[in-house]
Amino acid sequence: MQTYDIGLVPGPVSVPPELRAVFQINYGSSDLEDEFFSLYQRCENHLGKILATRNRVSIQSGEGMIALWSALKSVLRPGDKVLAVANGVFGYGIGDMAGQIGMEVEVVGFGYDDVPDLQQVREAAQRFRPRLVTAVHCETPSGTLASLEEIGAICREVDALFYVDFVSSGGGVEVRVDDWHIDLGLLGSQKVLSLPPDLAMVTVSERAWSAVEEVGYVGYDALAPWRKKVVDRQLPYTHNWHAIAGLHMATRLILHEGLPVTFKRHADVAAYCRGRLQAIGVELFPVREEICSPTVTAAKVPEGWSWSELDEALRARGVVVGSSYGPLAGTVFRIGHMGSQAKRDLVERGMDILEEVLKSK
Ligand SMILES: *Cc1c(COP(=O)(O)O)cnc(C)c1O
Repeated sequence: MQTYDIGLVPGPVSVPPELRAVFQINYGSSDLEDEFFSLYQRCENHLGKILATRNRVSIQSGEGMIALWSALKSVLRPGDKVLAVANGVFGYGIGDMAGQIGMEVEVVGFGYDDVPDLQQVREAAQRFRPRLVTAVHCETPSGTLASLEEIGAICREVDALFYVDFVSSGGGVEVRVDDWHIDLGLLGSQKVLSLPPDLAMVTVSERAWSAVEEVGYVGYDALAPWRKKVVDRQLPYTHNWHAIAGLHMATRLILHEGLPVTFKRHADVAAYCRGRLQAIGVELFPVREEICSPTVTAAKVPEGWSWSELDEALRARGVVVGSSYGPLAGTVFRIGHMGSQAKRDLVERGMDILEEVLKSK
């Protein structure tokens, strides 16, 4: 299989050797051994610190999308009103998902290159009176970072639950679950945490647990068992011990580095990446630099190039970056500098090669 020296895909990101090492150990059966449960509980603890929350965190076996479905299905009943705040592929997509499972969805939509306008969100929330408001912190396909605090306050004003996808920002950017009134906060393992795509995490507030109990959803992705069953040492299935051991290590590394240092590392690398792109004549995709995410940079495929031509030329020189999705496919490409890839020298080498490639034509 072809491998690349400079991996800059915005997820799954490269898994560094110290995290790969935990996958080489033979563990026992996760539903039988005490050691597994204490490891799980330490993971919850670490995640609480990283996400600034005292809420319980469910850690399910499965790719990040499990978190998105799990949280929707566990707190809603068909016909419930959902206000989807959307400014990108995931924001609009979550609205579609809620519609597919029978909810009455209103979308308060914005451009993919922009962030939500709070006045419009407040107006829609006050008029529509949703049970749940959904939003996305970092829109990975378009490289924007929305501010959540005010949307959280709006949710409280209208007594709605607040559902936030911070899959590609959590751990690399400040996220304050409790202060921002996030009832359901979603995270995946393959972004900032730099693990394989095998865990889906949800922070669940007391308000959200009450909704979970009321709704009574059962299924592989149900949230309910993660409240008491892990405490009672009964899992809904045999958990992925390797993945939990990886999570324990990944979160410990972040806390050991120190959150302010981790956040600054991401912000600095992102600023460097944007500066280099602009210096070589590549236009950023988001309308304003202030709304660019510290974890991923989205830029326009330069004039005179097709995405596939650019992708091929970069791969030929050992660099792999990300394409984009939906309406952005073919016209936007992305540099993923999150977690193990939030490294100045890695991004610098990638940008040097991009510059060479663009000059070669
Ligand atoms: C990566 C990601 C997910 C998980 O989805 P996959 O595309 O299946 O990895 C969910 N939300 C956001 C914002 C993401 O970046």
